[in-house]
Amino acid sequence: MSIQTVNPNTNKTVKSFEEMTEKAVDAKVEKSQIAFTHWKETSYQQRADLLHKVARLMRIKKLELAKTITLEMGKLLAQAEGEIDLSADIFDYYADHAEAFLGSKILNPEHGSAIIKNSPIGVLLGVMPWNFPYYQVARFVAPNIMVGNTILLKHASIVPQCAAAIEALFEEAKAPEGLYTNLFIPGKRASALVADKRIKGVSLTGSEAAGASIAMEAGKHLKKVVLELGGNDVFIILEDANMEKTVEWAVVGRMNNNGQCCVASKRFIAVEAIADEFIKKFKAKLSKMKVGDPMDPATELGPLSSEAAAVHLEDQVKRSVNQGAKVLLGGKRLNRDGAFMEPTILSDLKPGIAAYHEELFGPVASFYVVKDEQAAIDLANDSDFGLGASIFTEDVERGKKIADQIDTGMVFINHPTWTQADLPFGGTKRSGFGRELSELGIKEFVNKKLIRIS
Ligand code: NDP
Repeated sequence: MSIQTVNPNTNKTVKSFEEMTEKAVDAKVEKSQIAFTHWKETSYQQRADLLHKVARLMRIKKLELAKTITLEMGKLLAQAEGEIDLSADIFDYYADHAEAFLGSKILNPEHGSAIIKNSPIGVLLGVMPWNFPYYQVARFVAPNIMVGNTILLKHASIVPQCAAAIEALFEEAKAPEGLYTNLFIPGKRASALVADKRIKGVSLTGSEAAGASIAMEAGKHLKKVVLELGGNDVFIILEDANMEKTVEWAVVGRMNNNGQCCVASKRFIAVEAIADEFIKKFKAKLSKMKVGDPMDPATELGPLSSEAAAVHLEDQVKRSVNQGAKVLLGGKRLNRDGAFMEPTILSDLKPGIAAYHEELFGPVASFYVVKDEQAAIDLANDSDFGLGASIFTEDVERGKKIADQIDTGMVFINHPTWTQADLPFGGTKRSGFGRELSELGIKEFVNKKLIRIS
């Protein structure tokens, strides 16, 4: 049985779920299609009322929902509560702002008059990962429900209780049947589902392999797709950075969510002048992190999401060391039950070494020392990924000039890359394409229809 809650703190299976049959999925797609014919006729006010209700329920049930996240994928409980708040904010934000984003636009063509009207396109399939089980869903679903689209959601197989809880929130908020539907199916069946004529678009957040599989099907069947894949974000420390604040953010940037964010700071690039000071302070902080049960409020670093994730990460570290990387801190699994990895820092990384190229999805930082600002930019851009980047300098104008030269979808100055309801999110290169959130994200699955009047 592939759909299961396995507590990564103990690696014990808690609950298993039945995969839905082909027939059951077909019936759910049909209901979603029928729901679309009604939902597209609703007013923005009706859609907003529903989303506000969902947000309110999320806040009321915050602790209960957060505990499900911690149980299923090991996020620290306080961070899980923060994720519920962020998700509720997203529902409220699109309830309040979607109408303004989607309003008709009057054009001034040379001949005649014309307007652009934004209309929904139909049933959408979302394929979502486990690392932010509520937030990832919220940022896809809230804007699209405001557009008038309906949602089929295939969540990661390791967070089934979160998946079911989100559907239950919509039921409790009295959403029409078929507006939001959870599908208990494994990844491969999600790709196959893209072929279904009733599905008009698909959005995936996850690995490159899953993204490629979905994109291939979307290409074959000529459907719109948005992909938010992995990243290998740099965290650049310049000689004029405020060192105390920078080190604090470095710890958050790498270790938030037990190191499993697509936009986590993964490559720490320090210019020579301050490299020793930075690494000494960074290492001291990581080595003192209290690793343990993510339900315990004293814990600072919990397990990875699964045993498979921990095995994979340890293998990446071992391969890198065999290829010449040095371990400045940690480097091994913890000698206890659960999917734990020590806080780790690797250095001496060069092209050809696994950790130089691959995304390390866990508490493993890569440390680089470079001569100057230009060398930092060159190293930042020497990556197949292009999701986010952060630059630490007291000179914001200098930071902005560097940001212009970094080939990623997002650059943050004096903060690790992060997300908020009102800012766009997405990358370039192998980090995917399209945007989520903001006015850019809400228009991904919209027919921007031209009406020309003579
Ligand atoms: P996956 O990409 O396998 O999982 C993400 C989602 O995609 C899940 O719902 C999964 O379903 C689904 N999926 C998997 N294979 C396919 C497929 N062939 N067709 C359609 N959907 C599919 O991520 P993993 O959990 O395996 O993590 C592996 C790596 O992916 C991480 O180490 C990290 O590098 C990256 N990742 C990036 C994330 C991000 O935020 N950008 C989030 C999670 C992972 P199912 O669970 O049923 O397999």
